[in-house]
Amino acid sequence: MLPLDFIDSMRRQLGAEADDLFRALQSDAPTSIRLNTKMDVLTFPCDTEEVPWHIDGYYLSERPPFTLDPLFHAGCYYVQEASSMFVEQVLEQYLPQDSIVLDLCAAPGGKSTLISEYLGDKGLLLSNEVVRQRVFILSENIQKWGNGNTVVTHNTPAEYGEKCESMFDCILVDAPCSGEGMFRKDPASREEWSLKNVRMCAERQRSILMDVWDALKPGGILIYSTCTFNQEEDERNAEWIADSLGAEVLPIDYDPAWGIMEGTIGYHFYPHRAKGEGFYIAALRKHGAWPAGLAGIPSKALRTDKNSKKKSPAFPAEYEKEMRSWLQHPDHWAIRQNDRFATAYPAKFKDLIEYFAAHFTCISTGFGLGEERGKRIAPQHSLSMAKDLRREAFPQVELTREQALDYLRTAALVLPNAPMGVLLLTYENVPLGFAKNVGNRLNNLYPNEWRIRYQ
Ligand code: SAM
Repeated sequence: MLPLDFIDSMRRQLGAEADDLFRALQSDAPTSIRLNTKMDVLTFPCDTEEVPWHIDGYYLSERPPFTLDPLFHAGCYYVQEASSMFVEQVLEQYLPQDSIVLDLCAAPGGKSTLISEYLGDKGLLLSNEVVRQRVFILSENIQKWGNGNTVVTHNTPAEYGEKCESMFDCILVDAPCSGEGMFRKDPASREEWSLKNVRMCAERQRSILMDVWDALKPGGILIYSTCTFNQEEDERNAEWIADSLGAEVLPIDYDPAWGIMEGTIGYHFYPHRAKGEGFYIAALRKHGAWPAGLAGIPSKALRTDKNSKKKSPAFPAEYEKEMRSWLQHPDHWAIRQNDRFATAYPAKFKDLIEYFAAHFTCISTGFGLGEERGKRIAPQHSLSMAKDLRREAFPQVELTREQALDYLRTAALVLPNAPMGVLLLTYENVPLGFAKNVGNRLNNLYPNEWRIRYQ
């Protein structure tokens, strides 16, 4: 049952068409996934259809049990509702790939993995989540995606606004909202909905935007999105960004066949028109321009910090040499030591990442590379997820589906005839993680906190 006030307000907003929306909200939500470039071809045991606005997006005619697919855990695809994938269109139309991007409200990471893929080995993504319980799944999804171009943080929008002046070429605020677009997927969102809650969400969205605004460069792109339909949280807030914070509204090109409806500002995805969940998106360019010829990272905070920067500790040279031998492009990465652990992140952004490590709560920077154990260095799990892993650095053992699921449950594995030492386990030739063959048994090194639970 849809809330009555919601029915009234949608009738005012959409007129007679509102009934089509209400019918769509009572139907099943389509299932869609976005493929990772980890695999050339991925087949599903059902029909697939392309998502028209994202080259890697596919609708699945059925919802398979993803938990039982080892390739899902290997980061070969992300289950993401299709409308959200439209963020790609804004990136392609307005953002160079070598940009520094902040995804401020990022968990569980659907849009962050999309942005990370877009930036590839040229740009850097700061992926932030303020709610503690949600930040670890964000970090897990980023590790599994495997690009190594992302720093996951757990900070407030105000901390970004205060400590990162003019640092970002683009900020995505995929704001917490009243969730009208999730009514069919998530029945709890219907129960929590009220006009009062819509007002409260709209105010919170403005406060988030105001807090983070200083972190966007003059001339930088702000992408504002919600998964709700009402104009108070959507158009009114986009207008408020333009008029009060100071930005120009940008048009986004789209094919009329996609079923997108233009708002007075921004673009609505209604499930009775476009195949996906409810979604709203607007792109704006902050007034002003970044001075031509001023290269590098612009933030004032970072420039002053560089002078006072302490040198981070370094592992012995032989450990570093060994870790670099595990990578396809060792020179692309800087290695950072944190206690016993080494992480790899793009060397190009060393100063910036050191700045975040010193001033923010970083959950992960790039990917975990190695861990000092006794008198040797062992690979960390997220190396096995990294696309830059040099697989030949480890003996590889291909698992059956049953063995792969046992491995992902962190169960004991028996692999007769496997080589001794650290092994890279694969399924359908995609890395799943490491194990160590110690002769009489195989130590399962899959992270305990990621293990899958099923009967
Ligand atoms: N962008 C995510 C994705 O594509 O997977 C979904 C983000 S969800 C719509 C909004 C996020 O904002 C949630 O993870 C929520 O925890 C976070 N959030 C809640 N309150 C917030 C606040 N006051 N400031 C910033 N983020 C907040």
